[in-house]
Amino acid sequence: MTVPQDAGCLFCRIARRELPAKILFETAELVAFEDIRPKAPVHVLVIPKLHFASLNDAPDGSERLIGELLHAARRAAREKGVAATGYRVVLNTGRDSGQEVPHLHFHVIGGRPLSWPPG
Ligand code: 5GP
Ligand code: ZN
Repeated sequence: MTVPQDAGCLFCRIARRELPAKILFETAELVAFEDIRPKAPVHVLVIPKLHFASLNDAPDGSERLIGELLHAARRAAREKGVAATGYRVVLNTGRDSGQEVPHLHFHVIGGRPLSWPPG
């Protein structure tokens, strides 16, 4: 899997520790950190260290990594204490989803009842 890095990307820079973030945990392949503008009492972002602009850009061969990210989302929910009460894992992709940061990331949101469907 060949993936170009994006030197100026906000989340690549957080992954490289060039920008500060409240990091919950890190593995060789991913980083989990607190969202700077939390939408709920628990709001963690889980990102791959490799740069994919969105799910649409995740190449063949990234299937295992995407699975790792989901498992890390579950770990974040456990560590933040919302595994039992419930949480939502969100992957915004593209304009209509409201995706703002063009580096694939899962949101882990919980700590209050979440409405459905989303707006
Ligand atoms: P998106 O809308 O792209 O799915 O979500 C981007 C998320 O990144 C938003 O929830 C936003 O609050 C968060 N975010 C944007 N800039 C920063 C930052 O510099 N640091 C952190 N920790 N989160 C950020
Ligand atoms: Zn990036």
